[in-house]
Amino acid sequence: MLYKVLENSGLKSLLAGIMSGYELIGPKKLDRAIHDFSVIKDPSEIDLSYKKTTVPPAKKLLFPPSETLINYKLGEKISVTPVIDARQRVLFGVSAWDLNGMNFLDRIFSSDYPDSNYIARREKLIVIGYDAEPSETNFALSMGAEYASKGFDLFISNLGSRNFIRIATATGNSIINSFSNATEASHDDFVAYNRFMRNYRKKFTAIADMDQFGESYEATYNNNALWDKLAKNCFSCGSCNLVCPTCFCFNVRDDMMLNLKEGLKSREWDSCMMPEYGLVAGGHNFRSTRANRLKQRYRCKLKTFTEKFETYSCVGCGRCVEACLAKINIYEDISSIKKEVNV
Ligand code: SF4
Ligand code: SF4
Repeated sequence: MLYKVLENSGLKSLLAGIMSGYELIGPKKLDRAIHDFSVIKDPSEIDLSYKKTTVPPAKKLLFPPSETLINYKLGEKISVTPVIDARQRVLFGVSAWDLNGMNFLDRIFSSDYPDSNYIARREKLIVIGYDAEPSETNFALSMGAEYASKGFDLFISNLGSRNFIRIATATGNSIINSFSNATEASHDDFVAYNRFMRNYRKKFTAIADMDQFGESYEATYNNNALWDKLAKNCFSCGSCNLVCPTCFCFNVRDDMMLNLKEGLKSREWDSCMMPEYGLVAGGHNFRSTRANRLKQRYRCKLKTFTEKFETYSCVGCGRCVEACLAKINIYEDISSIKKEVNV
């Protein structure tokens, strides 16, 4: 890792330089309170004061809501043409928790069943992180996701009049050297950065008490009254899955053209909170109740991957809390589950 500092005035030229060579995706204000990551045409469109975006930016680019995977033609031989839409892009201003969400998806899509579409896009994505402002429902600090140690080319922390930049890759170094006059970080810059991080961590006001949560979860696994209570208002709408930076389930479908000679295979995001998710041939549904679906979702987010990858598959972004019309709140439910065991 290399460390440099760049005056605020140099940030605009850095962005202009990046735009001269790459497609730039960054946070833009769309409405009074709505931000989203989209293609930037002018550096002034970027608004780094954003606190949240409805859809996680890295997931939207790397694992889009729907995509064609292959086209095929039937004949004496079946010909199959993979469809991979991957191009070089720079994702600028992504928060540490969304970056950690992307790091989780990187592992999912490159381990047991390597996913060529995801991997091709990821290899071409240049990532520039930024210490964004946490929203009031953000509990990333409790999930260890308020700081990113990998997955980025550059990471920018704004220290006031200047920016402290962590440079993690040769590509990041080349961007900084080509498009900015950043200088080596001094001892004082490191002191200021450490102070900044101490204060930054104080901004995370929502807390999830994860201490020995796995044991509490197992102890309440068969407590049907508790799970019925936690899930009783759930509409099974699936919004919590759709906004989550780490949810990775998808459905694959075949569409045959009318000529019956060609077709395509596509995929779209799926949701474990919807009743059809557990429906199998013969009409049996192995997750037929809201309570069972919520219980399994919490297992996936808070326990399964602590065993498999030694990490939660929840980065504490708080999006599911804000998206849920039934006001189901994952960090409040974590407390309820733990209290049930302690009584
Ligand atoms: S967003 Fe809320 S209501 Fe909708 S499925 Fe998730 S928990 Fe249930
Ligand atoms: S489960 Fe909720 S808080 Fe956790 S990463 Fe997903 S959307 Fe964010």
